[in-house]
Amino acid sequence: SLTEKFDSVFKKLRGHGRLSEENIRDALREVRLVLLEADVNYKVVKDFVASVTARAVGQDVLKSLTPAQQVIKVVRDELGLLMGEGEDNSLDLAARPPVSIMLCGLQGAGKTTTCGKLALKLRKEKRNPLLVPADVYRPAAIEQLKTVGRQIGIPVYDTQPGQDPVAICEAARHFADLNGYDTLILDTAGRLHIDQELMGELSRIKASLDPREILFVADAMTGQDAVTVAKAFDELLNITGVVLTKLDGDARGGAALSIRAVTGKPVKLVGMGEKLDALETFHPDRMAQRILGMGDVLSLIEKAESAIDRDQAADMEQRLRKEGFNLETFRDQLQAVKKMGSMESILKLIPGAGKALKKAGDMQLPDKELKKIEAIINSMTRRERRDHRILNGSRRLRIAAGSGTTVQDVNQLLKRFTEAQKMMKKMQKLGPKGLKSLMGR
Ligand code: GDP
Ligand code: MG
Repeated sequence: SLTEKFDSVFKKLRGHGRLSEENIRDALREVRLVLLEADVNYKVVKDFVASVTARAVGQDVLKSLTPAQQVIKVVRDELGLLMGEGEDNSLDLAARPPVSIMLCGLQGAGKTTTCGKLALKLRKEKRNPLLVPADVYRPAAIEQLKTVGRQIGIPVYDTQPGQDPVAICEAARHFADLNGYDTLILDTAGRLHIDQELMGELSRIKASLDPREILFVADAMTGQDAVTVAKAFDELLNITGVVLTKLDGDARGGAALSIRAVTGKPVKLVGMGEKLDALETFHPDRMAQRILGMGDVLSLIEKAESAIDRDQAADMEQRLRKEGFNLETFRDQLQAVKKMGSMESILKLIPGAGKALKKAGDMQLPDKELKKIEAIINSMTRRERRDHRILNGSRRLRIAAGSGTTVQDVNQLLKRFTEAQKMMKKMQKLGPKGLKSLMGR
């Protein structure tokens, strides 16, 4: 899958300590291939790689302590931008009712299903929608919309097969006006391929109803083809947005990226299943994440980067290498981790760390607890901090007295510390950098 391929490209990148411009260019060449294989339009890929390259080989990345992660971040950011991050992709229904929403697209894209989903969503938003069957060529099409309407309790404008779709839409608008429906959802016909007759009909519906939203419905599984079709529909109808369906399957995600880039129109909604409540708002950042397939590792990187000073991170890394994981480094790491949020929330971001986390027990440390730990560790001698195994009963007693805590507190800390030690070993199994990126960065 696209996700797996990205993963392997980035694994290679991570293998390097410092990166050369050559490393980065190699990686981006692979990113390019991966995107092309995912059916992303070649021109979109070309522009994408160019802008990522420009940013990634910049001085900031090369000089940074974590160039691989920086490159990944650039790829992620650019992917998000390409998918419309930061732009408004909400439905615009602010017009005098009844407002029309026209759904169009090829046969099987998911128009009829999406009409139902949309009606349900709008009713939850306190609107009063009416479904309009404007696909009159197949008798079954009208029946299908009626079935959908029945399932969600939303009325379907009553009509017979064979009538003119424009006339149906106009009559439905009149009916809505008289009966207090504020939103018309037009389920138009589709064909297997773009054909002039259909396109002419859609233009006439548009001209007559002046829909506030014209949504192109695309099957996310169809990749590159969807792009050509989207372009044709947009040129003819000047669509206002895109609905991407069947994203619940293992769609490669290339379609979302290309359609948005080629038409310049935002993806507004995504279909996540056949059920009528499976319609979601499109989140460009999540889609970028999905394509990158690295779970929330990226947000971990960001968190860590903003919270911890780089020099301190480098320093910590060196100390860990030299001194190993002992009570002293443990204490300092806890402080660093505290800056990033709770230990648990950070561990949760790391794929596969869930199990290690459960075994380690509850690692969440409230402020008070952290202060206690610091006090206890500060009351130890240097030797004790570096080798906790020498902490016998009398030493523990002394430390408790010195830190204003109890022997139980000291015991509990040591238990925690040994759990953390075990967990570190688990983390190391996840990858050589897992530990460092958790504790050091
Ligand atoms: P239309 O020809 O464009 O009206 O497409 P339909 O609404 O009839 O949908 C075609 C098929 O795709 C139906 O079997 C739907 O159940 C299915 N479908 C539509 N949207 C989704 C979705 O988001 N996820 C999944 N898995 N199937 C969908
Ligand atoms: Mg249909």
